[in-house]
Amino acid sequence: MAKLHFYYSTMNAGKSTSLLQSNHNYKVRNLKTYIFTPKVDAQFHEGKIHSRLGVEEKAHVFDENFDFYEYFQIKNKENISCILVDEAQFLTELQVKELCKVCDEFNIPVMCYGIRTDFRGELFTGSMSLLAYADTMVELKTICEYENCSRKATMVARFVDGKLVTEGDKVVIGGDNYKVYCRKHYRKITGLI
Ligand SMILES: [Zn+2]
Repeated sequence: MAKLHFYYSTMNAGKSTSLLQSNHNYKVRNLKTYIFTPKVDAQFHEGKIHSRLGVEEKAHVFDENFDFYEYFQIKNKENISCILVDEAQFLTELQVKELCKVCDEFNIPVMCYGIRTDFRGELFTGSMSLLAYADTMVELKTICEYENCSRKATMVARFVDGKLVTEGDKVVIGGDNYKVYCRKHYRKITGLI
């Protein structure tokens, strides 16, 4: 039985690197995969997934109306070994359910990589559904950026022109405006929780 896996983390925890490594493991065995990236991110990355280690891979772009179940009803005959979704926090609830059906009915493993919460500490829609429905959840870990703190970072804070912001649009693409913290230091800095 294929499984739906959710790899979740804060920003800057190497999600794309992890996705590309998983994809590489299939490719070297000549196994077919499909990689997806959301339109919101594709505009920034030109439909490619980059890792900080310099590797990149072309990805299929999906928007909020894309139907994964319909798409793989046709592609299902291609003997697909894995579907990988980058920035999976941008999936809609319906799309997560479609990926569940693809996994269960077509027996294709699905690996989703996403950020759990936004800069206000609130769950992204896609991540909320993935936390609810995934068969396995794996946390990709990184370290709090506060002074000498060495605790695991679980929260994301947004900065504009070097200043912390706690309001604004849920989505601003471009990782440079974000820092990651453990909850204790996120609370100290943002006062949000
Ligand atoms: Zn900390």
